[in-house]
Amino acid sequence: MSDCSDPAGTVGAFLCRAGQHLRAAAIENPRLEARLMLGAAMGREPSSLLGATRAPVPPVAASRFASMLRRRQAREPLALILGRQGFWTLDLAVSPATLVPRADSEVVVEAALASNLPPSGAVLDLGTGTGCLLLAILSEWPGGFGIGVDLSPEAAALACSNARRNGLEKRCAFFAGHWADAIRSSFDLVLSNPPYIESAAIPSLMPEVRVHEPARALDGGPDGLDAYRLIVRALPRLLKAGGSAVLELGLGQAPAVTGLAEAAGLAVQGSHADLGGVSRALVMKKPFGGSASGR
Ligand code: GLN
Repeated sequence: MSDCSDPAGTVGAFLCRAGQHLRAAAIENPRLEARLMLGAAMGREPSSLLGATRAPVPPVAASRFASMLRRRQAREPLALILGRQGFWTLDLAVSPATLVPRADSEVVVEAALASNLPPSGAVLDLGTGTGCLLLAILSEWPGGFGIGVDLSPEAAALACSNARRNGLEKRCAFFAGHWADAIRSSFDLVLSNPPYIESAAIPSLMPEVRVHEPARALDGGPDGLDAYRLIVRALPRLLKAGGSAVLELGLGQAPAVTGLAEAAGLAVQGSHADLGGVSRALVMKKPFGGSASGR
């Protein structure tokens, strides 16, 4: 670890000063974030900076770093400043058009992979955003293919470029639309991380989310369940018999979404907890024999 005794203009001095600024802005991992931004500004692997504290920071990199630092002090999400976020094993481009992929959402991928479906299955991702859920599944299912839909055309275009970025573009397509309204086929697996925050709770979210992420990807209406009502109602027609849906959940929503799924004739298989112990993914199946209602 360097301290601010490194000579001015060196990596060590920049990291130390930036760490202090970020700490003062109440950023949780100030030194790590400073290193990630300086690495990006210098076009170097961030970990390589640890052993290079005496290296000079070229002026172009220094000014790039200063502007990144200002944005982060204003609580813009680090991923938007870096323009990328790791999710599952993928490197994804991010933009203000979508939510930044969260590590918590990886439990949706785990739950889907554990649900005993054919690895050549057809997958539908509703509200795909960066494409993170669909692309993660396709990266694990070499014979799978899928469709991602998002209300935002910018999100659909971003997901498409993320498919190319990860070499998955031959097995998926993305388009803009309202949930599954334009979908006429059925799938082995339906995924969604819908907006699920109660409208009244939006003002108390952290600034990174409240100010910089799209409200329509977060706001689930008065009780947070608006999107689940629409999605779950459509699942019986979207799923093949024996197919599964895995929906991401907000805090405490498992009972309510279980109720919606059962009312639609789906068999709820259980929920999976995220890294914080929150029930984060609910797995439901369309039974063979067709008792699920298409309404
Ligand atoms: N998990 C996100 C958050 O709390 C919300 C995502 C969503 O509404 N789907 O910031």
